[in-house]
Amino acid sequence: MIVTRYVCTLLTLPGRISLGTMSTKPGVCPDPACGRPLVPVVAEVENEEDLTSNPVWSPAPVQPPTALDRQVGGSHYKMPIQHAEFCQRNRLSWCESAAIKYIVRHGRKNGVEDINKAIHYLEILKELEYPDVKNPDVVKK
Ligand SMILES: [Zn+2]
Repeated sequence: MIVTRYVCTLLTLPGRISLGTMSTKPGVCPDPACGRPLVPVVAEVENEEDLTSNPVWSPAPVQPPTALDRQVGGSHYKMPIQHAEFCQRNRLSWCESAAIKYIVRHGRKNGVEDINKAIHYLEILKELEYPDVKNPDVVKK
């Protein structure tokens, strides 16, 4: 059986991997002074008990990237979670998603123009979702 464990990026050199420094789940290095990401390593053993016999660990094969790993354009402001995934998982509407896009990127891209675009999409959202609520700005004109 192939067993996968996770080790600090610093410990993936051959001979430096040992059970005491491994995690069963991905995450970050438990050493607070380190904090580097854990990377997967694999070993082939007969059963889980064989892990104590110090099997040979090697870096896990690299998985082909999924569509969510990629970002078409705008890689200079890649986020921990992609905008498309965030909006889809939260079942946001088109206007909600567009507003969030501009809110998130204004500091890195078009400044106040992006803020104004976000506000515009929120105004559209308000008009479509709450048509009975009077907009004081519109009433004044
Ligand atoms: Zn570390």
